[in-house]
Amino acid sequence: MLPPIRPDSAEPGREDWFAEPAYAGCQQRYRVLQRLHAQTTPWQSLEVLELEGPGRALILGGTLQTSVNEEFTYHEQLVHIPMFAHANPHRVLIVGGGDGGALRHVLLHQGVDRALEVEIDQTVVEVSLRFLPEISGGAYSDPRAELKIQDGAQFLAETSERFDVILIDSTDPVGPAAALTSDEFLRNAHRGLAPGGLIAMQSGSPISQPREWLSTVRAFKREFRIVKPYLGYVPIYPAMLWSWVVGSDEVDPTSFDEVSVRSRLDGLGTELRIYNPGLHRAAFALPNFVQALLKLIDRDEAPTAAHLRAAGHPLPGVLA
Ligand code: SAM
Repeated sequence: MLPPIRPDSAEPGREDWFAEPAYAGCQQRYRVLQRLHAQTTPWQSLEVLELEGPGRALILGGTLQTSVNEEFTYHEQLVHIPMFAHANPHRVLIVGGGDGGALRHVLLHQGVDRALEVEIDQTVVEVSLRFLPEISGGAYSDPRAELKIQDGAQFLAETSERFDVILIDSTDPVGPAAALTSDEFLRNAHRGLAPGGLIAMQSGSPISQPREWLSTVRAFKREFRIVKPYLGYVPIYPAMLWSWVVGSDEVDPTSFDEVSVRSRLDGLGTELRIYNPGLHRAAFALPNFVQALLKLIDRDEAPTAAHLRAAGHPLPGVLA
């Protein structure tokens, strides 16, 4: 039985906890073993905490982003499903991703000859390299990698480069990331795709953030011919069931050549801990209530608790 939730303050002799924002009367919290770093950058508050389960963790804007022990649960889903859905990706753009995890996973693909990360907040990269170097694992020194400190929305509005895969590895759509689900941004990202290209983005949780999830999928449907949401589990995120969405005009990410994927997997030179061809297929198999929620996507206003309940949402009182 967990002791009652206490404030985060680490008073002597009292346990120290980090609590995620609550949703539908639920709240995930993590016992803090050590508070390693805290500062406010020009873009967001930033902390590094040593947490009992996840290990050293990056917190931005008061929400857990990633940690050395469980980063793979998020980065493998964001990166390898679109990368293996593309027949032969060479040029990859990552918007955000300042912890370097997505960059490290992209560079596992030997066919990649250019991986550009456009991150708005240099401090995130610097602090991640200092406290969480395992997550980038040397990716920033790879000759194929380039780091650009810039607003990803501005970069895509101005670039004439074309990419085979674009990954939006951003914080939740507030603050500097608010622009990253706008129609204008997705139009510019669409223009930034080479023929046969795909874009993938983290889209929040259908459980703890159903409205955010639906509005991101809806924005993708306004821009791309083929839009496929997919699911996975990220233990440190609210409700753990997380989602990503792929958009493309030519490629259906649910159909891929398994023989070629298996040989490309061998070529990664490392054992992945989530991704395999069966999981790739299964990630797009949506539970019935998630499919029912998707039917709400054409409503202009956000679904009410009654809509969520009617769709069979397990926590219909959820507010986000
Ligand atoms: N990789 C993390 C994970 O496992 O969930 C995702 C978080 S990553 C640290 C999110 C990054 O997106 C942050 O470093 C943040 O500064 C960056 N970001 C937010 N808005 C941005 C924008 N408009 N352009 C570029 N980067 C942005």
